[in-house]
Amino acid sequence: MGTKIRCPNGDIKTAEECLECGKCYPPPVMRKLLAGPLKRRSKKKRDKPRFGVTRVTAECLRKSYFDMVEEVIHSLDKFWIFSRGHAIHDFIQADMPKEDVEVFKQVNFALFDLIGFIDAVHEGVLYEFKTTANLPEMPQEHHILQSQAYFSMLSPEEQAKIDKISIIYFSLSNIKHFEIPKRIITPFLEANGTILAQALKTGEPPMKTKSWLCKFCEFKEQCEAADRGEYVVPNSEEKKEEPQNKKEEEANTPSVTYQISEQKTLATIF
Ligand code: SF4
Repeated sequence: MGTKIRCPNGDIKTAEECLECGKCYPPPVMRKLLAGPLKRRSKKKRDKPRFGVTRVTAECLRKSYFDMVEEVIHSLDKFWIFSRGHAIHDFIQADMPKEDVEVFKQVNFALFDLIGFIDAVHEGVLYEFKTTANLPEMPQEHHILQSQAYFSMLSPEEQAKIDKISIIYFSLSNIKHFEIPKRIITPFLEANGTILAQALKTGEPPMKTKSWLCKFCEFKEQCEAADRGEYVVPNSEEKKEEPQNKKEEEANTPSVTYQISEQKTLATIF
């Protein structure tokens, strides 16, 4: 079960059906927007689950869980948000040596494996790039945790070579960067990953973290069903292959930056 597309008329389509219809945008735009969902991979059999970093550093583990077991439906404009972010990443990374960008890391825990793609480790700085509609006043908590997770996944020798961690936010009109503390958060990553692994095994959604983000959550119905003890997991196995590159890792939680931006936009307007 892969990503599905919500048509402007409300129909739910596969990426292939959406591309074939092609009414929304001209073909070159449709092909680029749908490149990710068209690249469907079958899930590999593993003896334990594999989580991308953003799964375990997300604000709500219950949402991370639903995102793995439920079908995800996005509108085409969401794919534009993803694509725009990817283009900015590519632009910034283009002048760095290949070995410094999208640095893959994997740490194996008892019940799961954790994988991550660091945007860049360059000249003693670990970089995390974020694209957003509006620049934040402060780095967002889950972005701090994500960056510190990458730092934690480096070997002690690699950690010793890192002078600082930098999160850089890019909007369409400006750039803002923050230096955040180097912190090893391995126990936190292990605790959250273990909760997710147990949830996948038992089919019982993990505890929720309620916040203002709930009102934008695409799994509200399932969350309420879980609260009533009525949630039925579509299949006890996770359905999505975890990310193969940074773009896919970011696509696990892209909506948060978008939604925060939306909220700020609304706050500005009203
Ligand atoms: S509605 Fe809120 S608490 Fe429930 S899964 Fe979504 S983000 Fe988590």
